This record gives sequence, C-alpha cells and structure tokens, in this order.
Amino acid sequence: MTMHRRQTPREFPPARRPLFAPLLLLASVVTLPARAADAPQPGNVAGPWSDYLQAGRFHVFSDSRIDREAPVWTELETLPQRVEETLGLSRQTTTFRVYLLRSRSEFQSAVARRFPDGIDRRALYIAEGDRHEIFVYRHLEFVTDLRHEAVHAILHAALPYLPLWLDEGLAAYFEIPPGQPASAHPYRRRLRWDWLLLRRRPDLRRLEGIDDPMALSAADYRECWGWTFWLLGRTETRKLLQEYLQAIAAGDPPGRFSDRLGAHVADPTAAMMQTVKSPPSPSPRRRLWRIRLPFPSRR
Ligand SMILES: [Zn+2]
Repeated sequence: MTMHRRQTPREFPPARRPLFAPLLLLASVVTLPARAADAPQPGNVAGPWSDYLQAGRFHVFSDSRIDREAPVWTELETLPQRVEETLGLSRQTTTFRVYLLRSRSEFQSAVARRFPDGIDRRALYIAEGDRHEIFVYRHLEFVTDLRHEAVHAILHAALPYLPLWLDEGLAAYFEIPPGQPASAHPYRRRLRWDWLLLRRRPDLRRLEGIDDPMALSAADYRECWGWTFWLLGRTETRKLLQEYLQAIAAGDPPGRFSDRLGAHVADPTAAMMQTVKSPPSPSPRRRLWRIRLPFPSRR
C-alpha cells in the first residue's frame, strides 16, 4: 500500500479562483449529478455519502452538498491530461475515488476506518492494488490539497514506482491552478529564505536518499518543489526528466536521476538556485499595466 499525506500545518494561501473561471463554467459538462443507476459505489469506505459528482476520471463522494459550479471540478477533469502531457506519460484510464468530508473530525473518522495511522494528516492518498483513494476535508485550502493528492494518484496509476523527492515535487508543482505560472508557488519565496537565513544548500543526492515520507521535513518538501520547478522549466532538463519517467514506466532500472543530470548540467545546484532566485516572469495582466504606465497624464 502506498500512502501519502499532507503535513499540518501547511503554508499555502487560500485557493484563488482562476481568472478564466467563467469560461470553464461554460464547459463544465463533466460535473454530472448523482444518479443511483450510474453512480459507482464508494468502495468499502463507509458513508454517509449524500452527494456524488464525476469529474473525468475522478469519482467524488461527499457527505455534504457539492457545489457543481466550483471551478475545481473542471480543473480536476483536465488535471490527468495536464500531468501526462507535461511529463510525456502515456494516457491512462484508471479512475480514482475522492472522499470529500465536511469537517476535520468527519475526515478523521473516515480515515480511521480505512487507515488508522492517517488521522493526523490533512489529506491522504491511498493506493492499494488497482484502488486509488483520496481523502480530503473542506477548509480554506482544500482545493490545493485535492490537486496535490490527485497528482499522486495520477502518477501512481501511470508508473510502477516513483522516487519520493519527485513524487512530492510533482504533486507540489501542480498545486498551482492552470492559467497561473509555476513560479507563483509560495514555496519559491520560502526556498529563498531557507537558503539565505537557514544556510541550507539544495542537495538532490541527499533528497534521493530519503524514501520515508515521514522523514521529509517541511524544508525538504520545498526543495523537492524547487528541483521539479527548475527541471520542468527548461527544455533540456524537462526532456531528461521525461526520459527518466519513461524508463520507470518501461520497468527499466532508472538509477539515480542525479547521475543523469550530472552528465548534462555542470552544476545543477547552482543552476536550480539561480532560477528560483530570479524574479518571476510578469503575468500578462502586469505586462499590460506596464505598457500603460507612460501614458497616464502626470500632474
Ligand atoms: Zn504529497
């Protein structure tokens, strides 16, 4: 059984509505109302499940009314394709069950029945055989938690194995909703503080040596994101990462990714730090604002 969990507390601002939410709402045909005849059964997870919604490959069971207008469901529907295309993975059809609980106490009750050791977590992904289950509960940041756990599910459905640093790095990378740059992740700012104040230096080989999620510190999670953010932001390193994942998918012994990286990039640590430290590229809205700056009349 593979288990992933979110730590508590976690640093992330409340989820923001994507700018293109109205467009997505028009296309929200993926959110189907529950019908006893076609709704799948919620596995062996006891309810009461009073609402159900399908968002692509995700079957969502909730103990409270689901807001079908919320952009998150369209996001969730498109997330598998986003992840698979970004990483060069073949398209999958595996489905996932999401259990959305109304409160932390309900979450703990549901998780305790399924995985007693998981009740201290803020969200949980459990993979057992062909069954992929995500537990989340409603709070200000639950959409971020849902994205994170959904990415774990998508990855583990496509790959027989994934190094922990990359598993967590990718889950954090896709926490940012579509339409926002990856550089908008709050880990970026925190990483710079880690390096400046705590004198931490990124070390991919050290991260590769950690295979127990409980051994990953909050700063380690940020570093996992930093490596992933840097790797996916450059054509050459993105290709290296895709080839690494293809080797894993094919069942070939992939070795350490750092060995492959070292053969192509002279000083990956310096390059990664430089990218994370550089100012984020301006958003389209900001660029417009800048273009308009010289024109307003001055007093
Ligand atoms: Zn995770």
